[in-house]
Amino acid sequence: MKIPLLDLKAQYARIQPEIIKVIEEVCAQQSFVLGSHVEQLEHTLAKFIGTEYAVGVASGSDALLLSLMELDIQPEDEVLTVPFTFFASTGVISRLHARPVFVDVCSDTFNLNPTQLADKISSRTKAILPVHLFGQCADMEAINEVASVHDIPVIEDACQAIGAARNGVQAGAFGRTGCFSFFPSKNLGAFGDGGLITTDDAQVAERLRLLRVHGSRSEYHHHLIGMNSRLDALQAAILQVKFQHLDDWTAKRQKNAVSYRQLFHDHGLDDRVILPVEASGNTHVYNQFTIRTPKRDELSAFLTEKNVYYPVPLHLQECYETLGYHKGDFPVAEHAALEVLSLPIYPELTTDQITYVVETITQFFDQ
Ligand SMILES: *Cc1c(COP(=O)(O)O)cnc(C)c1O
Repeated sequence: MKIPLLDLKAQYARIQPEIIKVIEEVCAQQSFVLGSHVEQLEHTLAKFIGTEYAVGVASGSDALLLSLMELDIQPEDEVLTVPFTFFASTGVISRLHARPVFVDVCSDTFNLNPTQLADKISSRTKAILPVHLFGQCADMEAINEVASVHDIPVIEDACQAIGAARNGVQAGAFGRTGCFSFFPSKNLGAFGDGGLITTDDAQVAERLRLLRVHGSRSEYHHHLIGMNSRLDALQAAILQVKFQHLDDWTAKRQKNAVSYRQLFHDHGLDDRVILPVEASGNTHVYNQFTIRTPKRDELSAFLTEKNVYYPVPLHLQECYETLGYHKGDFPVAEHAALEVLSLPIYPELTTDQITYVVETITQFFDQ
């Protein structure tokens, strides 16, 4: 049996007629950029996430970049974030010639460790950018507390965490802005790139709406220097269809996580691998089911499918040599990068497939 990390064809097979119908609708309209489908999706997702506003943009990376632009981040400004995440979280900071300043992560959740945050704040710190990695929220109460003491805005990278919640508040509703990605592998994925920014602040929403269209309020009149980062009507229409299934898909991911936990226990693997830890108060949406073992590289090779996310922490990336960080600077992130491995958790996964994955891992440890 060969089980992929994600099976988008299995998902599409179940929703094809609904999708084709809206694609034909958009084709008949021949209106492709922003417009009513995007507005409807913005409305739907703002309501779902629990914010006043949502602004559709071209990608999750752009959601982050535009959030930083909205804050008027300048060269040499510092933005606090984590070294264990997808490169986009820090790439956008560097794009503005600002400086990513790293804070180590927690060993259980892989999310920003708030106890190390205050020490990193300087007079140049202009934003804090926590990431809700693999589908569960960072400790946002603690992060927001430090942020408010120092009066620093928070931008949430919620790209992997649509629908995740912490103590009743959804990912994307904690910060000044929340950034989401509709990249196909995310829990709500488009048929291409797409992104969204959430906010409760009317002025922030208005500036973001300008920034995504070159700062233009009316044609050929530019109020701000922005960029071209708009969500397509086709993507919005597809996402609106897929959103109707999101709660069901999330529940299935969570059910698969329960099955994994039971099967790992039944197969006596409790002391061989560390299973994902759900922090107290968190609702985890399992964009990834990420396990840990010191034998990661051997197990990864044994399982054959691509399954390792972020093997090189960002402070050790070649392009960041000039930041002056060294091996050992963020020991928890570095250790995680050596030990984590993700297993298939997508909603269409069958019990047989989950059992097969766990049996294969059992074989690995028994050999
Ligand atoms: C996917 C992702 C992004 C970027 O989203 P794109 O839509 O691919 O630009 C940013 N941060 C994290 C944590 C992500 O997983």
